[in-house]
Amino acid sequence: PTRESLLEVNNIEVIYNHVILVLKGVSLSVPKGGITALLGGNGAGKTTTLKAISNLLHSERGAVTKGTIHYRGERVQDLAPSDLVKKGVIQVMEGRHCFEHLTVEENLLTGAYTRGDGGAAIARDLEMVYAYFPRLKERRKSQAGYTSGGEQQMCAIGRALMSRPETILLDEPSMGLAPQLVEQIFEIVKAVNEQEGVTFLLAEQNTNVALRYAHYGYILESGRVVMDGPADALRENPDVKEFYLGLS
Ligand code: ATP
Repeated sequence: PTRESLLEVNNIEVIYNHVILVLKGVSLSVPKGGITALLGGNGAGKTTTLKAISNLLHSERGAVTKGTIHYRGERVQDLAPSDLVKKGVIQVMEGRHCFEHLTVEENLLTGAYTRGDGGAAIARDLEMVYAYFPRLKERRKSQAGYTSGGEQQMCAIGRALMSRPETILLDEPSMGLAPQLVEQIFEIVKAVNEQEGVTFLLAEQNTNVALRYAHYGYILESGRVVMDGPADALRENPDVKEFYLGLS
């Protein structure tokens, strides 16, 4: 990661349905070229934080009622989600959300939809995605709805890559996957980060695996950041070990 901060979340508050205060002043900073992890248990506010950043709260009757969100120094919290995509920020939602009736390859191609460049570049990027995910190449003609959970997660990440993003917001990539597959997905995230320079902010309940791949982590509890630091330091922290890693 570099010293340049791409994304700055400053003291945001999020309220659902006008009354339910879910984020109580969350601040975080995402450096360009890094993998930043947003950690915490069920209901801590990880998904809400990602949705606040990509402006996806409206459909859930949620709103950012305090604080600011800047991307590359520009205030982005009033942008339409599609405008944020044009700025290079794309969210991979929890639960994967592939188009079930399209083939894997058609799903990947939908990711290139917002791009202005032509077919040759898209064909090249499709090969780039298949190089990271050989499994997707094998399954490219299969209907996405009939592929496994792991393949759908790969498909969702691959589709995001097809938009040539600068930053990927990745929600709970490990969810519902066997440990070996989780490891595989994180290896690919790491490779994409190192080789394509894509910045990641990922929400993850699996603290153990996330802190092995991330550079920096924030731990959320009940809508507040209770601890943050370099991933190595967090892994050695006695409280993190006791409450999140289950090692002590
Ligand atoms: P998970 O891993 O379960 O997704 P999380 O850390 O991502 O957990 P959030 O999904 O952000 O947590 O939820 C934070 C809190 O906000 C929870 O208490 C949840 O019940 C509440 N919440 C989430 N969505 C809504 C909504 N649309 N309306 C009201 N409350 C909500």
